[in-house]
Amino acid sequence: MKKLYFILLCSLLITSFVNGQTITEIINQVQLDSLQLTLREFTGEQPTTINGNEVTITNRIHSNNELAADYLYQKFDRLDNITVSNQLIDGEAGRRNIIGTQLGKTNPDNIYIICAHYDSVADYCADDNASGTAAILEIARILSTQCLDNTIVYALWDEEEIGLQGAAYYANQAAANNDNILGVLNIDMMGYDGDNDNNFDIDVRDVGNSLTMKDDLISILNTPEYGFTLEVNVVNPGTTASDHARFWNRDYSAVLVGESWESGDETPFYHSSNDRYSTLNFPYYHQLTKLIMGYMVTKAGLVAVDNTVTQNINTLTANQNGAAYQWFNYDTNTSIVGATNQSYTPIINGNYVVEISSGSCVEKSMPITINSLGMETFSDSEIVLYPNPVKTNLVVDIPSISDAVVLELYDISGKKILAKTSSGSKTILDLSALSNGVYFLKARTNNKFKISKIIKD
Ligand SMILES: [Zn+2]
Repeated sequence: MKKLYFILLCSLLITSFVNGQTITEIINQVQLDSLQLTLREFTGEQPTTINGNEVTITNRIHSNNELAADYLYQKFDRLDNITVSNQLIDGEAGRRNIIGTQLGKTNPDNIYIICAHYDSVADYCADDNASGTAAILEIARILSTQCLDNTIVYALWDEEEIGLQGAAYYANQAAANNDNILGVLNIDMMGYDGDNDNNFDIDVRDVGNSLTMKDDLISILNTPEYGFTLEVNVVNPGTTASDHARFWNRDYSAVLVGESWESGDETPFYHSSNDRYSTLNFPYYHQLTKLIMGYMVTKAGLVAVDNTVTQNINTLTANQNGAAYQWFNYDTNTSIVGATNQSYTPIINGNYVVEISSGSCVEKSMPITINSLGMETFSDSEIVLYPNPVKTNLVVDIPSISDAVVLELYDISGKKILAKTSSGSKTILDLSALSNGVYFLKARTNNKFKISKIIKD
C-alpha cells in the first residue's frame, strides 16, 4: 500500500519530460554572472585560484601568459566529458594553445571548432580577447554536461597578436592529419557595443562551406523561439586579421563573429590597458554568447539523454528512464555507496547530483539542494496558494505564521528561479515572465517546510 501511494504521488508530481534538453534550454543556461566572474578573474580585476594558490593574472602578453594558460587548462580539466591538452606551438615551451576536446558519440570524426585567442598586447584587454575566451569557457561549461553527436574542439590560441601563430600551427597540423573539420567559429572581441544598437559582424569569405556557416548562424539568429534582438552585418570579404584566416589558408570553413567594426562601433580602447571590464556592454555580450551557443549546440547535435531530476519532498528521481544511475554528494564530490537506483532519498541535508549512463553517454544532473530533512511540514491551511494554475500573480497566503517564510520557486529541472521572503500574511509572486509549465514552490522556516506544485499557463 505504501509503495502504491508513493508511485501515485510521484505520478502526480512528475510531468512527461522524457526527452533530453532542448536547444532553447541549453541557450538559456548561458549565465551572465558566470561570464562576468571569468572576465574579472581572467583580466586581473580580481584574484583567482590556480593550482591551489591565490594569484592575480596581471597580463596575458604572449611572453608572460603562462598563468593565464594554466587558468584555462584548469577550467577545462574540471569539466566532465572534456579532455584538455597543451599544444606547444612548434614544440616550444612557453608558447601553447589550450585545447579542450569533447568527443562526439555518434560521429567522432566530424569536428566543429569554437576558438578565440587568449594572449593580449597590454594589461587587462577585456574586450580583446578575454571576451571571446570567457564565452568559450561558458559554452564549454554547459555543453560538457551533454552527450553530443559530433566532436567539439574548444581552442584557445596563444600568439595571435604576433601573427596568428597559435592558430596557424593548429591548422597546419590538422590539414596534415586530414582532420575532418566541418566549421571553425572564431570569436575575437565581442563585448563592446557603445551605441547600444545590438549590431554585430560575421566576417566570411567564399572558402569551403564558410558561406553556409554564415547562413546557419543567421538562421539561429532569426528563430523566433530563441528571442534574439541582435542585428547582423555580413562582412564579405571578411577580415583576415584574426585566427580564422589561418583555417581559410588551409581551405577549411570558418567565420569570425564579434562586435561591429563594420558600423564603426568597435571598442575605442583597442590594444590599450584602458580596454577594461567596466567598458563592456553586458546585455549585448550575454546575448551574443547565447547566439554562439545556439549555433554550437545545433552543430554538436544533442543525444537525447535527460539529465534533469524531479524532487518530491526529499526524494530525488532522475527523469531519464532505462539508464544506469549513480548518485553523488555534490558538496564532497563523492559517490554514495548503493545509491544506484533511479530515485534516491538523501539522509542528510546537502546538494546532490546523479550521473546517468545511457548507451555510450554519461551525463550528470545539475545539483539539487535538500535542506528540509528532519523538519515538519506545513499543513494545507498554514500555506495557501492561489490561483493555481496561475497566469501572472501567485498569492502566497500565510494566515497564522508570524515567522518570516522563505519562498523558493524551482523549475522542473530543479533550478531555482526566484526566492522571496514573506512579508505580512500575503506575499505576491509575479510569475508573468515564466514560460508555461510545471514549477515547485518550496516554503520554509527554520523548522517547517512545504513543497507545492504550481502550474503556469
Ligand atoms: Zn584580438
